[in-house]
Amino acid sequence: MKSVVEVLKLGTEFLISKNIPEARINMQWLMCDVLGYSDIELYLNHDKPLYDKELNEIRCKMLDVAKNKPIQYVISTATFRDLQLDLDEEVLIPRPETEELVELILKSTLNRFSGYSVLDIGTGSACIALSIAKAVRDAKVYAVDISENAIKVAKKNANRYLINNLYLHKLDILRQIPKTKFDLIVSNPPYIPIDEYYNLDKNVLDYEPKEALTDGADGLTFYRRFAEIFPKMLNPGGKFFLEIGYGQAAEIEKLFSVTNFETKVYKDMNGVERFIEGMQKQ
Ligand code: GLN
Repeated sequence: MKSVVEVLKLGTEFLISKNIPEARINMQWLMCDVLGYSDIELYLNHDKPLYDKELNEIRCKMLDVAKNKPIQYVISTATFRDLQLDLDEEVLIPRPETEELVELILKSTLNRFSGYSVLDIGTGSACIALSIAKAVRDAKVYAVDISENAIKVAKKNANRYLINNLYLHKLDILRQIPKTKFDLIVSNPPYIPIDEYYNLDKNVLDYEPKEALTDGADGLTFYRRFAEIFPKMLNPGGKFFLEIGYGQAAEIEKLFSVTNFETKVYKDMNGVERFIEGMQKQ
């Protein structure tokens, strides 16, 4: 019988032989998932022998990781700030940049949320919406997505954290507009241009939902639509915060200046212009 630590070692070596980056951490997460352990429990139980059933399950999941399936999909969960989110292959794995977007939003609107209504467009796993709803309990947070399944996943995540100020609806923002107005609109829309999409890493290309990553065109479809509809969707003094793609800042600022917005661009931790804040000129 093999012990926890032996399987961890053998599994890591196997994943390294398959050129999987971060093999050790992948193996650790995978074993925690199968055994129902936290990271610390995995080490505390390092000499525990594994049952055949556990070994088989670990082996199956290891083979998925070896095929470049992102670990978050293999174990159906992802970490976002202080949240542990359920997810499946129909929602995007939340990125560290989007954690930064949330920090930016919370910092710049802090204490001004009371009674605020917030809208998150293309919510996916609800990582942004849930973070805001959890941080500011007296804000009403609405979140929409074109995918019925994303809404289902998002609802599960809201229930897990006993969040009752988050309202989730299926909506196609390119064709519909919500009936009410908002004080704050946030979004991380699909912004990768279609010709760059096909150059993405295999683990992204083969597993993540295409419609959450690319608009199938030049990457700006959603920002064009936002510049057109946000004037009708924001309350007086309302703001927006959006995530944007590499090299898109100038063009997006131009789109919003046409519809009378003042904008400010922020860089992410890699020094890339990644976020845009906007407010209508008075
Ligand atoms: N940041 C994601 C990536 O580079 C893209 C997310 C998006 O299109 N909104 O994979």
